[in-house]
Amino acid sequence: MMSGFSRPSAAGLLAAAALLATAACGSGAAQTTTSSTTTTSSAKPEVVAAFYPLQWLTEQVGGSDAQITTLTAPGVEPHDLELGIKQVSDIQSAALTVYIKGVQPAVDDAVAQDKGFDAATAVTTLPAGEHAEEEEGHEEEHGHEEISYDPHIWLDPSRLATVATKLGERLATVDAAHAQAYKDRAAKTAAELGTLDQEFAKGLTTCKSKSIVTAHEAFGYLADRYKLKQVGITLDPETEPSPARLSEVAKLAKAEGVTTIFTEALVSPKVAEVLASQVGAKTAVLDPLEGKPSGDYLSAMRDNLKTLQTALGCTA
Ligand SMILES: [Zn+2]
Repeated sequence: MMSGFSRPSAAGLLAAAALLATAACGSGAAQTTTSSTTTTSSAKPEVVAAFYPLQWLTEQVGGSDAQITTLTAPGVEPHDLELGIKQVSDIQSAALTVYIKGVQPAVDDAVAQDKGFDAATAVTTLPAGEHAEEEEGHEEEHGHEEISYDPHIWLDPSRLATVATKLGERLATVDAAHAQAYKDRAAKTAAELGTLDQEFAKGLTTCKSKSIVTAHEAFGYLADRYKLKQVGITLDPETEPSPARLSEVAKLAKAEGVTTIFTEALVSPKVAEVLASQVGAKTAVLDPLEGKPSGDYLSAMRDNLKTLQTALGCTA
């Protein structure tokens, strides 16, 4: 799990954070910390969650025994996250940071190994998208290309259930006084995710089509688990696909009888709309859950299931 990058010193990190702040790429969204309420009045362990699905999971497992903050404010694409000085210091003072190596390079660099829980190490990962090579030029700006595996593990509820169990074990060692409570909540969360997994498996068994064309190649684990075929237009949510890639995907979509091109909430639907009109398909939102949904992880995933069933013509 080596990234091939040397670990910078604390001073180097702060300098890098300041540099990054002046070199924002793209989204222009304000990077605000939601961890400003941290106080020293509580003896609860401070746990930092890197972005939404991990925040949800950490809240389920940590419950009221942990003081949980998140680094990625609602509405911010987590891949673009830049850390402020306050956030770097929150990570350094936290008892544990829950993250996924490869999603947010700034977080990867700020977490000390012995105080990090890398959720990707809890599950069997899949290789990164097959057209990663084409986008090598974006290596400097975005996280996906530094690692050889696809980091979007949270989109498979069965894998996330495994992460819940391992996170419970880890929190039990961080805060031994509440060990049983962490393990109990982890078991309950894993069971809820198991139920969700069964709903997906059942709901996607009998479908007219098994191909999903997505704007951002985030659904590899979902496709792997439920025997769908993902065709991602781009690997990175902010990369404009080349005309060659677009026509390649259009050809594939026509050949597979695709009726719906999926877009997502935090990314401009423009590319998917162009493709949909070329193919004669509709667009629909499939949420990769990289930002906070209007409900929670479970309700947003159930919405995704309904969207998939409609788009793929499933009877369940
Ligand atoms: Zn992503």
